[in-house]
Amino acid sequence: MLWFEACATYRFKHGTASLIDAIVADSTAEVRLNAEVTAIDQSGDTVEIRLTDGSTVTTSAVVVTLPLNALKSIEVTPPLSKGKRAASQEGQASRGVKVWIRARGHLAHFAAIAPADRPLQLLQKEYEVDGDTIIVSLGRDATRWTSPTGRPSKRSSAS
Ligand SMILES: Cc1cc2nc3c(=O)[nH]c(=O)nc-3n(C[C@H](O)[C@H](O)[C@H](O)COP(=O)(O)OP(=O)(O)OC[C@H]3O[C@@H](n4cnc5c(N)ncnc54)[C@H](O)[C@@H]3O)c2cc1C
Repeated sequence: MLWFEACATYRFKHGTASLIDAIVADSTAEVRLNAEVTAIDQSGDTVEIRLTDGSTVTTSAVVVTLPLNALKSIEVTPPLSKGKRAASQEGQASRGVKVWIRARGHLAHFAAIAPADRPLQLLQKEYEVDGDTIIVSLGRDATRWTSPTGRPSKRSSAS
């Protein structure tokens, strides 16, 4: 509960992006944005990374942090293990749901949790906009969540 309370109360003064900016400023690495990888070949002494623009990057090692869903779109040589390929084909594991609520007026910071059998398990104040309070809520299973109309949500999963 203390952890939820901390999340609801403390945030980066200049947004989460300021953390990324600070990491980049602290590094000598070359950062390339919008560089989509199509293939990784590590069959030789070096690693060859192919990009959609046709160019190739050669390096001594590669660390892949792509989400499971994206991993399967890259041709890896030698192939990834059977287990990794199977997990990537299966895709997103989470079936959670995230709901944003705009409540009228000012509310003090709070965090609340509900039992697992409820559609939503976490509720906490995020920030304020034009005098209203923005609240975020998370549930573990989007398929069990019904919309404010009472009809089941059309989306089977969300994050
Ligand atoms: C709407 C939404 C709300 C969320 N809210 C929260 C929250 O409140 N709190 C929380 O903790 N988490 C939240 N999450 C989850 C959180 O965003 C993810 O868990 C986190 O971003 C995963 O980080 P990642 O680095 O694994 O993947 P990503 O952040 O998805 O990063 C993967 C990157 O790889 C790039 N990429 C993909 N394919 C290629 C390719 N072939 N070549 C090169 N680059 C490629 C993508 O462009 C992307 O930049 C939310 C997610 C969504 C969608």
